[in-house]
Amino acid sequence: TVYEMLAETAASRGEARALSFQIRSGPKDRAETLTWAELGAQVTRAANLFRALGAGPEDGIAYLLPNSNETVYTLLGGVTAGVVCPINPLLEVGQIASILRETGARILVTLAPFPKSDVAEKAHAAAMFAPELQTILEVDLKRYLSPPLSWLIPVMRPRLDIRHGKRVANLNEEMAKQPGDRLTFAETGGADRVAANFHTGGTTGMPKIARHRQRGMVYNGKVATMDVIRPDDVLICPLPLFHVLGAYPILMSCVAAGAHLVLPTPAGYRGEGVLDNFWALVERWRVSFMVMVPTAATALLQREVKHDISSLRYAICGSAPLPVELFRRFERTCGVKILEGYGMTEATCLVSINPPEGERKIGSVGLPIPYTHVRILDCQQDGEVNRECGTDEIGEICIGNPAVFPGYREEARNFGLFTRPGHLLRTGDMGRLDADGYLWITGRLKDLIIRGGHNIDPGLIEEALMGHSAVAFVGAIGQPDAVAGELPCAYVELRDDASITEAELLDYAREHIPERAAVPKHLEIVDELPKTAVGKVFKPALRKRAIHRVY
Ligand code: ATP
Ligand code: MG
Repeated sequence: TVYEMLAETAASRGEARALSFQIRSGPKDRAETLTWAELGAQVTRAANLFRALGAGPEDGIAYLLPNSNETVYTLLGGVTAGVVCPINPLLEVGQIASILRETGARILVTLAPFPKSDVAEKAHAAAMFAPELQTILEVDLKRYLSPPLSWLIPVMRPRLDIRHGKRVANLNEEMAKQPGDRLTFAETGGADRVAANFHTGGTTGMPKIARHRQRGMVYNGKVATMDVIRPDDVLICPLPLFHVLGAYPILMSCVAAGAHLVLPTPAGYRGEGVLDNFWALVERWRVSFMVMVPTAATALLQREVKHDISSLRYAICGSAPLPVELFRRFERTCGVKILEGYGMTEATCLVSINPPEGERKIGSVGLPIPYTHVRILDCQQDGEVNRECGTDEIGEICIGNPAVFPGYREEARNFGLFTRPGHLLRTGDMGRLDADGYLWITGRLKDLIIRGGHNIDPGLIEEALMGHSAVAFVGAIGQPDAVAGELPCAYVELRDDASITEAELLDYAREHIPERAAVPKHLEIVDELPKTAVGKVFKPALRKRAIHRVY
């Protein structure tokens, strides 16, 4: 179990640094650092608190939190005591309420009201529509601020009260009252117990709720990155801990290896972005590993590197395609090796990664991690396998490993999810395996643009346009067309200092897109592309925009 993995590390690396949450407070930065022994004790208290509040092994403990040390206690303590359910605070109140109801959450951990943050407001609004929710535990970020600043923030309301029928209390105060007694194996429920409900990224529509077993989490910690992350590594994670990439390959591998995890100031806090003091933190903590998504790479390149970041060895990147040009520019500018990997919520995250030692193939997502089978198959809708694709032939990526999830909570979503025969997870992603066994992703099955029966991979358009130095982001979709069914259409967001016309970009597209049919029929420059919380281009919004334009 996750708890046993943590206990082992707390015993062997007790005095080593485990977690540093960094928050900007005025001119001086302040961090709260915990050792592994301290983190182990806090997680035990959090788990005991959730138990005391009535959470059993099948009960939901949701959180709606930006990153902080408390987010880590809640995640690890929640997995230990019950079924943790991380929720993206950027979701709409209605979506949050529906996740709370769907997962039957009894406890919700969220922020206490805090200036310039609407997290608390959203949490309380959503809680009103979640009848099974009994307790709201608040995290007061004010405690991270140094006195002159914290005095400026008024006490917004009493600490303990009853609001809309729910008990409201302060997480840290309640944890402090709990015994530090270790939970027993019987209490934590074993490796096969479903211990988390993570919602998917919502890139293709309404997020789905994936059930995760502890063994998948432990697999990500112990196996997925076992040759990559070492005890003396320092990792920095600007990604939110409600998403699998931060929670599993990063947090769990720190727990497994006893490495040090640095959490930067959450985005939006006091108007700053999560990446604003990123390089300063890398220098300060001598960070050796960073984790990012492609949009973060673009954003970081727009900031000059004024700090000594020579300690950085690797940047793990995943969650969306990383254009080759961006890969090269990032490595050149920052002097760090990128390890591109592939993962998904349904696989309890990591599936493949480029090896740190050995050949890294730019543009590929590397080799399957240990004990993971990747097959490229041609499947029918109900999961029946027609045939297996050959080397370099494109088909649906299907995977099997100890971490693959048992299915979504919503039963209706599980139709055709696994292959027959074989029970491999159908990822919905298209790709190929090369002769050396490296995996190449070519796009999502759902995103294919079908022009007069001919499949066009939007990735071709995006990759080509990203090669232009004026372009920051691209989203290519199929716009409806009465004759062809769909026609390729591209939306482009420019870099801050760039100026170029749509006609010039279209000329560039004609020259650089390898397939004539894929050249966009319509290309539009927009101020900002719609993106999800982990920075993926949100294509449903683009499709809606195209439909409005066409009709
Ligand atoms: P939803 O399923 O709700 O539409 P989502 O698929 O984006 O959202 P996640 O589970 O967070 O939710 O993301 C997994 C997906 O991200 C994969 O299925 C794949 O399409 C994409 N992905 C992950 N890593 C990479 C990568 N390195 N290159 C290209 N695509 C990637
Ligand atoms: Mg998905």
